[in-house]
Amino acid sequence: MRIAAGRRKSVIFFFTFGACLVVLALALNVGWILLNWRQVALMVLGLVFFTLIIVGLVLNTTFLIREVRRNEQHDAFINSVTHELKTPITSIRLYLETLKTRDISQTQREEFYNIMLADSDRLLHTVEQVLRAGQASHRGKINASIIDLGQMVSECLAVTRVHYNLDAGALSYTERLDEQRALVAGEPEELRAAVSNLLDNAVKYSDRDVRVSVEVATLDAKRVAVRIADRGIGLQSGQLKSIFKRFYRVPGGFMSRIKGTGLGLFIVRSIIEKHGGRVFAESEGLGQGSTFTIHLPRA
Ligand code: ADP
Repeated sequence: MRIAAGRRKSVIFFFTFGACLVVLALALNVGWILLNWRQVALMVLGLVFFTLIIVGLVLNTTFLIREVRRNEQHDAFINSVTHELKTPITSIRLYLETLKTRDISQTQREEFYNIMLADSDRLLHTVEQVLRAGQASHRGKINASIIDLGQMVSECLAVTRVHYNLDAGALSYTERLDEQRALVAGEPEELRAAVSNLLDNAVKYSDRDVRVSVEVATLDAKRVAVRIADRGIGLQSGQLKSIFKRFYRVPGGFMSRIKGTGLGLFIVRSIIEKHGGRVFAESEGLGQGSTFTIHLPRA
């Protein structure tokens, strides 16, 4: 709601701005006729007005382009969310109908139950992502407790391994800590969601050969880091910042095969910044893999 109000305000502002420009252009024309005899004053005034109008037009065009882009991203987001909601529901329905109408063996029955459970997990994940993205824009106080980051990251790794049915070598974990554990103050659920989102992406954007290395390390006396490096599709340098924007997905043919909502990294950034840390992406380029790093203050 707050975003919608903000956008309405900026639309009203630019609308008023456009109206002012029209008045300015009219004033320039009328003034031109009235002040024709004052050549020098006219020239100066003309130049000033002309510059103002040009600057205004450039600003207005920039605003319009931004609005068009935002609308395109909203459309893409709605399409992908609808797809992510509809596909598992359709699948669950189909299996339920089959279970209801056909006489099937116990083994097949078990298999159907597992597929339906996986589908409902997918559904839940999408709904949670959308809810989290909504909460992420509100910068409330966090309900902090002390978390052992190393332990939490290895738990997330175990969940990802099971979820994607990966072999032991696909996800590797190392710790490079000083004498003390990597303790941070934060909301366990939120930090777990941030790390899991990065792990999901590392697997999702690895294409076939999943080789992801995860590291929890001491940066200095005050900070610890989590690094998640994959050997996947990689990123162009121009995309490294944009990917953290809400609804943003890298455009391209390959990407359309990988489903997503463009919310994951936005959620990660919001959570990490709320915890006083930062997150950034690095990549040598397309096909060269990517590394996502989180810095968090030590408790
Ligand atoms: P989603 O994955 O749902 O599209 P995200 O916000 O998680 O949304 O990611 C935004 C975009 O960043 C993705 O669409 C993808 O293009 C790019 N991206 C994220 N993680 C990686 C990664 N590990 N390797 C390459 N590209 C990535």
